[in-house]
Amino acid sequence: MYTFFHLKQDILRFKNAGCEVGVVGKTHLGCDIPYLFIGEKSGTNLVVVASVHAREHITSLLVARQAWFYFTKKVNLFGGIYFVPMLNIDGVRLCHEGVDWIASKEQRDFLVETNGGYDFSLWKANANAVDINCNFDAEWGTGASNVTKPAPQGYIGTNPMSEKESVALAEFTKQINPDYVIAYHAKGEEIYWQFFQDEQKLNRDYRYARFVANYTGYKLVGQTQSAGGYKDWCVQKLGIPAITVEVGNDAYSHPYPYHQIDDIVAKNLLVPQKMLNTISKEKQNAKQVYEGGYQRG
Ligand SMILES: [Zn+2]
Repeated sequence: MYTFFHLKQDILRFKNAGCEVGVVGKTHLGCDIPYLFIGEKSGTNLVVVASVHAREHITSLLVARQAWFYFTKKVNLFGGIYFVPMLNIDGVRLCHEGVDWIASKEQRDFLVETNGGYDFSLWKANANAVDINCNFDAEWGTGASNVTKPAPQGYIGTNPMSEKESVALAEFTKQINPDYVIAYHAKGEEIYWQFFQDEQKLNRDYRYARFVANYTGYKLVGQTQSAGGYKDWCVQKLGIPAITVEVGNDAYSHPYPYHQIDDIVAKNLLVPQKMLNTISKEKQNAKQVYEGGYQRG
């Protein structure tokens, strides 16, 4: 299992090795959400996020492994990548540790009642019982599986961006203004990329998503019945191409078994690098065409 404790150890390991480490913002219960940056800030930049949903913590191990590989192997990057290995730290802690680590009795009682017991291994929400991936300001509240009261999954919150984690990630993303966003979830081996894009962006975003689908062997899925996700918000509000990648085969059940991590890593290890370099080359080509045209004119 990849826990908050492992994340803290890894962050320290990166820091001691000279990698840029920073803070995206805070969780509902006040914990710093870390990021790692690898590569060059000028030029093309990517954001890679994992564990938006608590029980999908195997994605944190995937992203930690990606980042460590890129950092230590000095993988060739035409730009830079921001890795956010564990957005929903409070939720992941609930999955692994239950409620004992939470200081407030009121908070513990609220969570145990909402969960219907002490086993939080299938919990998806944050520590406010809001599903972070239903809380973003993108057709908020219109998702087919949305619920309107605190729940282990699907609760949209009192209003769009009501949660600290959503605000932190949104502000972080706006500040970076990345060229591509990859949000890792589990499971199904599927890629979601569509969310009310205009035609020009639809073609671009489909092309990028198809690239990742071809590389991973995962299935492309168009518009779905869900809304208010981080990917949805990037696509609709920022016009940034973004994908949700559902790692892991549906043959297994949640929480996704860790003995499958090598398969997940094998299929995804180079996905951020391939996307970064593909987009970077495209931008370079577009610039040359423009400059060539200007000189001729
Ligand atoms: Zn998910």
